[in-house]
Amino acid sequence: MESCLFCRIAAKEVPARIVHEDDDCLAFEDINPQAPMHVLVIPRRHMATLNELSDQDSRLAGRLVLVARNLAVERGYKESGFRLVANCQAGAGQSVFHIHVHVLGGRAFQWPPG
Ligand code: AMP
Ligand code: ZN
Repeated sequence: MESCLFCRIAAKEVPARIVHEDDDCLAFEDINPQAPMHVLVIPRRHMATLNELSDQDSRLAGRLVLVARNLAVERGYKESGFRLVANCQAGAGQSVFHIHVHVLGGRAFQWPPG
């Protein structure tokens, strides 16, 4: 997906502050942080929304969550808490159509989310 912003970040064609890379996933700082920690974890493979995940992607989906959790723990939020968010479709607030998990930490979070 040449036109996809997050594919271009994964290909290092668009700069980003990358904080984690492995064979399956990439994580980088959100350009418009909504909390002291705001990192995005993405699969390297282009998938537009969570709707595209299949049972064959169970391992990848688990990796996204574990990478997100590990980054939050590394930054000291194991006990104080952190939030993972994955918006699916514009109606839920998705604006970049390449699956991503937001990792937010370092402030109090309200429930329900807006
Ligand atoms: P969502 O609205 O759930 O699709 O989240 C997309 C996120 O991508 C937003 O939090 C944006 O701030 C973030 N974002 C957009 N462009 C960039 C970029 N070039 N580098 C890093 N984060 C970005
Ligand atoms: Zn993409």
